Amino acid sequence: MRIKVLGCYGGQLLGFHLTSFLVNDSILLDAGSPTEALDLEDQFAIRHIFISHTHLDHIKDIAFLADNRSLKRLGGANGNRQIVVHSLPENIEVMRKDFFNNRVWPDFTRIPSVSDPILVFEPIEAEQTVEVDGVKVTAIAVNHPVPCTGFLIDQDDKQFIYTADTGSTDRIWEVANAQPNLKGIVVDCSFPNAYEKLAEISGHLTPNGMAAELAKFKQLGKVPVYLYHMKPETLNVLTSEVGSLFLPHLRMLTQVDELLL
Ligand SMILES: [Zn+2]
Ligand SMILES: [Zn+2]
Repeated sequence: MRIKVLGCYGGQLLGFHLTSFLVNDSILLDAGSPTEALDLEDQFAIRHIFISHTHLDHIKDIAFLADNRSLKRLGGANGNRQIVVHSLPENIEVMRKDFFNNRVWPDFTRIPSVSDPILVFEPIEAEQTVEVDGVKVTAIAVNHPVPCTGFLIDQDDKQFIYTADTGSTDRIWEVANAQPNLKGIVVDCSFPNAYEKLAEISGHLTPNGMAAELAKFKQLGKVPVYLYHMKPETLNVLTSEVGSLFLPHLRMLTQVDELLL
């Protein structure tokens, strides 16, 4: 399994991309930045997008991926390259009604035609597993102000977990602890400790909150922990606060990372 970090930040600033992870070239976990990070050919290889929740920093690039693909298909590109967007049913409803509604953005589930559209929405329930391109993906509910799931990824009996945006939560740690061959876990670490209250209200973690979550993780020190969703303008403070925790086998992601599992 190969996981390329296209973006790992909780804010968009020059040089800092929003959250998006590319699994084996064809599967995207959240769509914060693929059109900024990938050329057109690599964008065209994306077949499935798993969306954790409908906050704009996780869905915005579905719009531009679809737009780029429509031009490529009209240009005569080979193969029917639909993008299947998997998410909770309530998230799909939001994307249909509030995003791809022909007001905010064209309804790409009907373009170029209803029978052969660019975008297909596919509901996935929490705890449900779907297999796409040889990779099993399971949605796990987490704690955020809107319906949100992290994802357990499993290929060739190696597992990887992405918590997505979350405050204090339990189920995903139970799932992490139950994995026989977990190769890494990506965890929210958005705000410096001084913003504890804001983190709590907005369903995110500070370094101290993240450390409290990791107390639930039985494989701490054995499995790499990667932090994401850092607010870029606070990166220096976050780096020093995370460093002073002296947690083993843990680091912040950067958007040039490629994880080989
Ligand atoms: Zn969010
Ligand atoms: Zn976010």
